[in-house]
Parts: sequence; C-alpha cells; structure tokens
Amino acid sequence: MSLPLPGLIDVIPVPGKASGDVRLDILGLSREELKDALIDNGVPARQAAMRMRQIWHWVYHRGVTSFNGMANVAKEVQAALEKNFRISRPDVVETRYSKDGTRKYLLRFHDGSEAETVYIPDEDEDEHRGTLCISAQVGCTLNCRFCHTGTQRLVRNLEPGEIVAQMMIARDDLGEWPVSTEGRRITNIVMMGMGEPLYNFENVKKALHIIMDKEGIQLSRRRITLSTAGVVPMMERAGAEIGVNLAVSLHATNNEIRNEIVPLNKKYPLEDLLEACRKYPGAHNARRITFEYVMLKDINDSDQDAKELVRLIHRYELPAKVNLIPFNPWPGSPYECSDWDRIRAFSAIIFKSGISAPIRMPRGRDIMAACGQLKSESVKKRVSARP
Ligand code: SAH
Repeated sequence: MSLPLPGLIDVIPVPGKASGDVRLDILGLSREELKDALIDNGVPARQAAMRMRQIWHWVYHRGVTSFNGMANVAKEVQAALEKNFRISRPDVVETRYSKDGTRKYLLRFHDGSEAETVYIPDEDEDEHRGTLCISAQVGCTLNCRFCHTGTQRLVRNLEPGEIVAQMMIARDDLGEWPVSTEGRRITNIVMMGMGEPLYNFENVKKALHIIMDKEGIQLSRRRITLSTAGVVPMMERAGAEIGVNLAVSLHATNNEIRNEIVPLNKKYPLEDLLEACRKYPGAHNARRITFEYVMLKDINDSDQDAKELVRLIHRYELPAKVNLIPFNPWPGSPYECSDWDRIRAFSAIIFKSGISAPIRMPRGRDIMAACGQLKSESVKKRVSARP
C-alpha cells in the first residue's frame, strides 16, 4: 500500500481516458503475481512457473509488446494470453531533444495524467553510457521553493507498472532490446525525476526490483540511486529493502534556511535527517551517500555554509560526497543561481577538507529537462482550463 501524501491539499482529478481495455497489464506485476494471474486465467498450475518465466523473458529481456512474437509459446496459448493480458506502454506525448544529447519524454498514462522521464547520455559520446532519470509521482507534494515540479498542483503516485514503463519507453527509443550487459546506453538510473520516491515507497520498491531482476533488465542496485528530500522514517527501509544508493537533497546547513527552502524540514529537521543518513544500511566508504546541494545566490552559498557543511559531515561521521547543483531557473522562479566563481570557491572549501564536491553541469536546460525543471505542461493547461 502507498503512504498517504502529506502536504497534499487539493488533488485535482484528471478525467479518465477510458481505454475500454480491461485486460490485466503485465508490466509492473512481480513474478509471483504474474504466476498467480496466469493460474487465475486458466493456465494449469503445473505449467504456470514455466510460462511465467517465458513471458518474463520476452517482456523484460526482449521488450516485446504483444504475445504474438513469443516464439516458444504455442499459438493457442499466445491467443489465450492476448485475450486476458496486455503488455502496454503509456503514450509518449512528446519527445524533446536537447543540443547536448539529453532526451526528455512526456508520458501520458491511462487516466490522462502525465509525467516526464529524462535520458542523459554521458558527455563522452564514445562511451555510450548514460543515466535515466525516472519520476516517482505525477507532480510533487513537497513544494520545495526552488523546484518547478512543486508548482504543479496535480499529484498522484505512479503505479509500479508506470515506473517500470519509463525504463521500457527509453529502451524502446534507444533500441536497447534484447537486453545485453555490454554496450548499454542506459547504464544507470536515478530516481530523481518528478515526485518524492519515499512517499511512494511500495510502488518504487516493486518497480526497482523488477528493473534489477536477473532474468530481465538486470540493472545492478549499485547503478541505481534514489534521491529523497528527507523522508526520515522511510530511509532505513529503503536501504534494507531496496538496497540502492542514497542521495539526499540537503541544500542547507541549518534548520532556519532549510525550513524555508525545503518545507519538509519542518517535519523532519536536519539533525534527524543526518542521523538517519548515519544509519542508512549499506552506507560505507566505498558506497557513499550523496548530498545534493543546489546553489542559490545569497541564500545558501557562503564560505560559512561550505564550512558548516563539512563540519556536519564530520560530526555525524558520514561516508558522504557532495554534489553541487547550479540552480536551474524556470519561469517565475524566486531565486538566482550563484555566480560561477562562488560555486567554485564553495566546492574548493569542501574538497580541501577531503570530501569530494564536484559541480554537476546542467544538462538539457534548453528543453527544460534539467534538475528541478520538470513539470508536465499539458496537465497544467488542462487544470487551468477547468471552469
Ligand atoms: N523528491 C526527491 C527527488 C527529486 S530529485 C528529492 O527531493 O530528492 C530532484 C533534485 O533536483 C533534488 O535534489 C532537487 O532538490 C533538485 N532541484 C529541484 N529544483 C531544482 C532547480 N531549480 N535547480 C537545481 N536543482 C533543483
């Protein structure tokens, strides 16, 4: 079950786009659920495990979207499956290409709500490596002051299948089927798109386990990073039950400023957050926690802030690195990005103390695909068009 959405005031329902298709969608079912569903739909129990594995392979290794192509499944069985199940993809409403190679997909789900997914190729084009930035929710309830997604009023949790589908769509587009462990273009995933993954814990967990499955997409948990604004009570479970890398959107070194820019801090203050980081299962020197820190001019970017950040990391004995994110503006945003020299000086102070603090170069700004710029426009239009 999903957690309730704290901070949610006024959910605006989106009129359903009734597809009339009542068949069960395979995308997002766990292996167990798929097996049970096959039995419920007439597959003899003794064949169910084998059929489940066959289907799993076709769906998550080969990327098929219908049962017709499943060569090792008898024609009559294919037809029966087609009648009761589907392997669907959300509609790709728009794909935008940045001049730096970043691609942004706007996806529309069955009820008409939308979310964005971003593919960011590594800058070294010969490497063919890249990161897929996946959304956990339609919109977001957190209202971080510097983030565009927080201004989108429509919010709902994405289903496991809708989270997995973001990976499937990107693989479709990049021609990544069948899955191979070499020459992949999507080598990493970050749960850093729209929404707060730890407010949609069960669905995110289920989706990531499907993506990590050894007989499917097989992405290692070491190549997946989940980013949270600091939902303290869920952090330990995230480490224990999903086991991916953790990133924390810190952005400030005292409660006063953090309360203002990340309002969730009023619920889970800095000390509690850092304590939860210290206890994060799997955090050690080889596998550090990443602190994301958005550089906001005259708000959180002084030398004093940098020194305080170092002090906190030492005081809580955190195996941590810092990722400095130049603020990405959006229409009407209330902040400015720190000057380049300021960001460099801030980074240098942290590096000098022995903590890594690279500056994350903005990618895909020209197509509004950079950190904090995601917001599905067409939902906004539809909402404002309401009487
Ligand atoms: N809710 C999660 C996942 C979103 S990740 C979280 O808060 O971590 C998106 C990252 O981009 C977060 O670190 C967020 O704080 C950062 N971000 C948001 N708006 C931004 C902006 N305008 N410029 C730069 N980074 C931003």
